[in-house]
Amino acid sequence: MTHSTPRRLSPSATSMLAALDRHPILTIEGYCNGSCDVRQVTVRVKNYDKDFSAHLQAGRDLVCPVCQTPLTIHAVRTLPEQDALDRAEARRSVNTQIAERDRGGPLRVATLAEMSNDALPPTAGTPEPTGTAKARAIISEAQQRRDAKKLEHALDALCPNLP
Ligand SMILES: [Zn+2]
Repeated sequence: MTHSTPRRLSPSATSMLAALDRHPILTIEGYCNGSCDVRQVTVRVKNYDKDFSAHLQAGRDLVCPVCQTPLTIHAVRTLPEQDALDRAEARRSVNTQIAERDRGGPLRVATLAEMSNDALPPTAGTPEPTGTAKARAIISEAQQRRDAKKLEHALDALCPNLP
């Protein structure tokens, strides 16, 4: 009589299976440590028929498309997680371009606030924010521009009774 022992899954396979429990569509990023020229590999998976989860549960790795070396997986995101990341990256890119335009040239030293600002910039059709939203917008702009006076005004608007 033979006993089948459960296959021990790699941490990346466990991570991908956990993500598949959250959503059937994944974006997986890995890189090749083999001797080929491939570095970044991005795989988009639709696991509707559970073929990919069966592949992982069988202990099979994702491999480099050129040299077949198992990929080192460094990111696993569900479709909603990837969409949120893509949209935030797009907003950061636009905000960096706006900051460059406002400074009249490329940013040589971007501030942390500029690099991490993923708020949508206002447009001509954006309704004027009121109350807390207005204070948040002022604080965000003051942080980007390192304008302490503007930040102080925003705090006053939020907490008018502070000394
Ligand atoms: Zn390779």
